[in-house]
Amino acid sequence: MKDIIIGIDLGTTNSEVAVVEHGKVTLIKDGNKKMLPSFVGINDAGQVIVGESARNQYLVYPERTIKSIKRLMGQDTQVVLAEQTYTPQEISAIILTRLKDIAEKYLGQTVSKAVITVPAYFSDAQRQATREAGEIAGLEVLRMINEPTAAALAYGTGQTEKKQVLIYDLGGGTFDVSVVNMQDDVVEVLSSHGDNHLGGDDFDQKIIDYLIEHIQDTHKVDVRQHSKAMARLTRAAEEAKFVLSDQPFAQINEEYLLEHDGSAIHLSLELSRVTYEEMIEDYINATIDATHIAIKDAKLTASDIDDVILVGGSTRTPCIRERLFNEFGFEPHSEVDPDICVALGAATQAAMISGQEVDTVLVDVTPYTYGTSAIGQLNGQPYPFMFVPIIHKNSVLPNRKTEAFETSYDNQDTVEVTIYQGEDPDALNNVKIGEFLIEGLLDVPRGNIITLTLELDLNGILHVSAIEKKSGLEKNITIKNALSQFEGEALDTAKQRITSLFGKMDSRIIEEEGSTVPDAPEIIAARELIAKAEGLFDKISDEDKEDMIELIETITACIDAQDIEGLDKPSAQLTDIIYYLES
Ligand code: AMP
Repeated sequence: MKDIIIGIDLGTTNSEVAVVEHGKVTLIKDGNKKMLPSFVGINDAGQVIVGESARNQYLVYPERTIKSIKRLMGQDTQVVLAEQTYTPQEISAIILTRLKDIAEKYLGQTVSKAVITVPAYFSDAQRQATREAGEIAGLEVLRMINEPTAAALAYGTGQTEKKQVLIYDLGGGTFDVSVVNMQDDVVEVLSSHGDNHLGGDDFDQKIIDYLIEHIQDTHKVDVRQHSKAMARLTRAAEEAKFVLSDQPFAQINEEYLLEHDGSAIHLSLELSRVTYEEMIEDYINATIDATHIAIKDAKLTASDIDDVILVGGSTRTPCIRERLFNEFGFEPHSEVDPDICVALGAATQAAMISGQEVDTVLVDVTPYTYGTSAIGQLNGQPYPFMFVPIIHKNSVLPNRKTEAFETSYDNQDTVEVTIYQGEDPDALNNVKIGEFLIEGLLDVPRGNIITLTLELDLNGILHVSAIEKKSGLEKNITIKNALSQFEGEALDTAKQRITSLFGKMDSRIIEEEGSTVPDAPEIIAARELIAKAEGLFDKISDEDKEDMIELIETITACIDAQDIEGLDKPSAQLTDIIYYLES
């Protein structure tokens, strides 16, 4: 049998494995999970656990769990895990072994060769330690490539024209920005900058601090003294953050969070994207400053940058895209799933080493931006038709995004909603593709919130709905052929245009057995909940189990039907049962 070389992204927070099969870059999933959390632990039974289960036990048993081992790679140090000491290489080797197993199970053959990615700033000692971790795991590391190089490769090979690309990589615990030069499949890192301790975990912490303060103010309880409640807050904070990437508000509900003076404390509060973005503003500013330092270190200026590529799960935070758009004047690329982009690039490199052809297949993306108009500022002047983008150009289809707007005068009872397609900051210069009135709004002062949701499917049908937040009053329209309205272009032609944006650097499809569409956060959360419930099965009574199985079946049916609303009730009921069983 022919040797297969796998590509591995050994990340601080999550790791992934990918391979090129029949010319296609394929991410290898673990069950239905695309990422393996980079956590290693020892469970109650003394067994080594890796990934999701280790991540779940981290909050409750930190002494038995190791996270972020990548930060210690190359240091002459040891970590303690359940009273045993290990080198960072050994812990990383445990993660690599798990990834190797996942790949072997999928491929049906043993795997002994890999390409592993490392941050561009890794020293020789850190690279050497990574190579050793591979050896311990039984993997010959044929090549170690820089993460930004891998990200650039994931966006395509066969690039002949010279391009300067900025790779903005914001993960869970680290931020790296690199400027690379790309020509003839050779990627050269010109400069790299970043912060080893900045990422999505810091964003979560800001929300957690906000929740702690809220509970302190409303219930006079210091929730930090209650580890189980803190574990729930941590999870709730990250889930709220996911919701805020697509919606202007997130509802945080944690019933029976803890007991205080004999009565139960329930947490129920709404967090707006605006408040959240204020919380993380300093972090975002720091990343933009680092971006300018990297450009300067590469002896370039912002106008020399041809493309910006987003890597890392945290780049789904909308204000990051906005800030980068403002800095560079064009949309950054995120068509290749930012969570798995580096692993796909590592697999591409592996295929190049073994002389395989790698196909370029396109991801379905929207070639245009869709949005509405609102009163705002244009060229420093107040202007009634400022374009507000909602679904950005190059977003993967299908896509659903919601933004909040406010009425502009007291007792305003109607709002006219106009939908445009285009890129111009002046909405009137874009193509108007639909309009409607929402009437009968509440008699309230200005600032009445109206949320506008745009949902664009693979067939180019755009569903638009406007909802008055306070009353739930809704008006919606469907715009057929939204994608082809623009100069009558067909989707295929449009896709070609997107490709040419990147020169010959075609985006390639992310083969993920089934859908290429990222799951909605509600679906991810529901899957996690099911896994958690199933993890309790051997510890509970048959009666509890029956109740749980019934709920799991209802939730699974909702996941299959992509019925996000339907998930709410059974998920909340299952959460309550889990909480009672665990406490
Ligand atoms: P990575 O290290 O690239 O796997 O990125 C993991 C980080 O991305 C974690 O902090 C996640 O909470 C964050 N993340 C994943 N999805 C989203 C999302 N939809 N919005 C905001 N942050 C996200």
